[in-house]
Amino acid sequence: MNRELTAEMILRLASSAGSLLGRRIALGMDGRTSGPMLREAAIGGLLSVGCTIYDMGILPTPVLQFSVKGLGLDGGLMLTASHNPPEFNGLKVVASDGVEVPRGVEEEIESLYYRGGPPLSPWDEVGVVRGVNPIEAYEAAVLSHVDREGIRRAGLRVALDPGNGVSVLTAPSVAGRLGCPVYSINAEIDGRFPGRGSEPRPDNLNGLRALVEATGADLGVAFDGDGDRAIFVDERGEVHWGDRSFALVARDFIQRNPGEAVATPVSSSRVVEDVVRGGGGRIIWTRVGSVVVSRTMVELGVKLGGEENGGIFYAPHLPVRDGTMAMALILDIMAREGKPLSKLFGELPRYHQMKERIPCPSHLKEVVMERIRGMVDAPRIESIDGLKLWYDDGSWILIRPSGTEPIIRLYAEAGEPGRVSALIERHKRLVAEAMETSG
Ligand code: MG
Repeated sequence: MNRELTAEMILRLASSAGSLLGRRIALGMDGRTSGPMLREAAIGGLLSVGCTIYDMGILPTPVLQFSVKGLGLDGGLMLTASHNPPEFNGLKVVASDGVEVPRGVEEEIESLYYRGGPPLSPWDEVGVVRGVNPIEAYEAAVLSHVDREGIRRAGLRVALDPGNGVSVLTAPSVAGRLGCPVYSINAEIDGRFPGRGSEPRPDNLNGLRALVEATGADLGVAFDGDGDRAIFVDERGEVHWGDRSFALVARDFIQRNPGEAVATPVSSSRVVEDVVRGGGGRIIWTRVGSVVVSRTMVELGVKLGGEENGGIFYAPHLPVRDGTMAMALILDIMAREGKPLSKLFGELPRYHQMKERIPCPSHLKEVVMERIRGMVDAPRIESIDGLKLWYDDGSWILIRPSGTEPIIRLYAEAGEPGRVSALIERHKRLVAEAMETSG
């Protein structure tokens, strides 16, 4: 912040986005220290091209997205760096359907930005700012998708760890409105993320696990900085990663909507495929990235999507990932099934996973991946995103160059821990070999 991204850049990006998206634009920000500075710049940019700004202040990204669609606006700008460390910030551009704009529109905005920005409005056509508080309409919509009375009767006790992020504004209130006693830690918005950082990870959720234990809660939920991802802890304090909580939601969804499809990136656990196929549903593998999942859902009319990082996309609400909606869906399942969360997770097949990152200069990635393609051998190879090799025992490994960092990622999964580490070791050597012959 203030090194690569500045207020001046945001001003011109906002005017470029505003001139392309339309006249009625929502504006919001997460709780980062640079938010107010960037917000003023964004307001200046949007007003300079004649936009009416629906100023929503600090709020979770999915609430802004929901409100763009709900209020029938032409688009929205969200100042957020999601789960990234506090020194970062960024601009997320939302289309009128509430979903992040496709890459093509982003490129148009960037191109206008680099050409010096759009023509500015004359004095009598500059825009105006309207204050909007969209939280109540959002919460009412989330509550409408679950069995409020059923959850209330179940009396589930909820421990929350918003990680000093903006889900503080919706998650405790939604849980409370579902009749759940709520306990929380890191529940003050603080752009420095002093509690446990802005990204929930298995190694920084000890506070939440202790809270679950101390309060006897039925579940714990941790959110990322801008509130679109949720990670769950069962009543015994065990952390379950995002593809497993998504598998619970997917299993329930397919049971109630037989034959429907579910979208998930190729990096997700096969537990998702197991429960979806097992229930008679269809699985649609996508490239990695939340925008890809959302856009795939919109295009194909898919009602449910999910990511291994804890993003759950529920299209009857909105096909974007939403931590508070995810929490409500899990509460709904727990109330209907009447089983402890550890039991529900225990019903899922268990696989062992390993991830590895191998440094690789970005300019070499393409060549290295081409080499690897010639070296690997497996009964089933998918190249939706990177290379995914499937073996006959159900194990798989994904070799995928990162879109943003100079690394190649390996994701592997197998029924046995020994098998998964062997897969990682073998392919680490293979990537190293491919790099040697490419460099
Ligand atoms: Mg996020």
